[in-house]
Amino acid sequence: KTPRRGGGALGPHPSPPWGADAGCPPRAAKKNRGPPPPPGGRVVFTEHIMTRIYLDNAATTPVDGRVLEQMLPYFSERFGNADSVHSFGREAAAAVDNARRKLAGVLGVRQSEVFFTSCGTESNNWAIKGVADEICAKSAKKRIITSVIEHDSVLSSCKTVGMKGADTVYLPVGADGTVSPEALKNAINGETALVSVMAVNNETGAVQPVRELAEIAHGCGALFHTDAVQAACTQDLKALAAVADIMSLSAHKCGGPKGAGVLYVRKGVRIGDLMDGGEQERGRRGGTVNVPAVIGCACAFELAAKERESVSAKLSRLCDIFLSRIASADGITVNGGGRAPGIVNIRAEGVTDDSLLHLLDLAGVACSAGAACSSGSSEPSHVLLAMGLTEERARGSVRVSFGRNNTEEEAEEAARRFVEAVVLARGRKNK
Ligand code: PLP
Repeated sequence: KTPRRGGGALGPHPSPPWGADAGCPPRAAKKNRGPPPPPGGRVVFTEHIMTRIYLDNAATTPVDGRVLEQMLPYFSERFGNADSVHSFGREAAAAVDNARRKLAGVLGVRQSEVFFTSCGTESNNWAIKGVADEICAKSAKKRIITSVIEHDSVLSSCKTVGMKGADTVYLPVGADGTVSPEALKNAINGETALVSVMAVNNETGAVQPVRELAEIAHGCGALFHTDAVQAACTQDLKALAAVADIMSLSAHKCGGPKGAGVLYVRKGVRIGDLMDGGEQERGRRGGTVNVPAVIGCACAFELAAKERESVSAKLSRLCDIFLSRIASADGITVNGGGRAPGIVNIRAEGVTDDSLLHLLDLAGVACSAGAACSSGSSEPSHVLLAMGLTEERARGSVRVSFGRNNTEEEAEEAARRFVEAVVLARGRKNK
């Protein structure tokens, strides 16, 4: 991939109207972290760190303190390998069993249907390549249907299995960013092995009609997989697992650690193994189990499920506050519709995303142009293009994603800085 526009290529940035000291230092000044702490004294954060506002929770979330507390002992005093037969190992294995039990409870499934992986990307790879190896390669069912707005881990996996002989079909989306059941009805046939459509889009927050899509897939004898990575905080995971045959999750989107994912595979569904190795995960995924990550993962999902309604209400409120305040800058449009609480994709006429994001970063507001893993790419968002936006409009859009730790004051303040950044970015573009 070519380097993303922006960074040094943008040239010197004008001072933001809120004063350079209030925001993040520009990238070049990254090493200047303020004066050293007094010897033996408390670490005092400099003002610009205090005033930063993190609105990129769809990229990742901070680990919840309650999750961290559960994880910590398993890095040190309870460090055993969960496969060792001695007491250290048994202690770790018991904790992994307990984590699997918790997750099965959160999803309303059997413990034997829960597999721990290293991330959402791995879960998606396993789901799609596993079906291709087990079904497409061994039967007449060659078709795998997905949508054009999936995360790269799904799209790239589909590309790989397509090159190996699977018949891959990509469903379009409407202007609201959702896949229509009609489009699936037109694409599916008796030779379809799998339909894979995400539960919530990571760039627009658009909630997909998973129940209807799963029904259509099942009606044609196909399996249904959903990438539910962005669904963790706001959607009913039990309801999703009830209609999906295979489902991917990732802990770091809901207060869990990075490097911890889950693949739910319904009993009786046969998919190939992704990783050869030892007998871990019932011989399906070799590799020493990352015990603290697994514990943190289960704890994060348990908390997310318990607090889903209150967190969703809070995220909706924060989004509403932010959107109502930024409306004062003319030419602001929300891309897509039917959003899950917390994620909103905003187009500002007359700006480019790299310029706006840079100005926001200077002002201490962290948001993004789309998926964090694509931020090294120079291409406009494939999701926004698929929704019918022109290249220019797609490049003038940014994603703002709220998390449970954000406050109403932050939503207000971020909106104020956003409006100022838009005005500044427009001024720069017109020069
Ligand atoms: N699927 C979606 C929808 C995502 O948003 C992401 C991450 O941004 C992933 C999959 C990949 O998850 P992970 O970062 O755990 O690999």
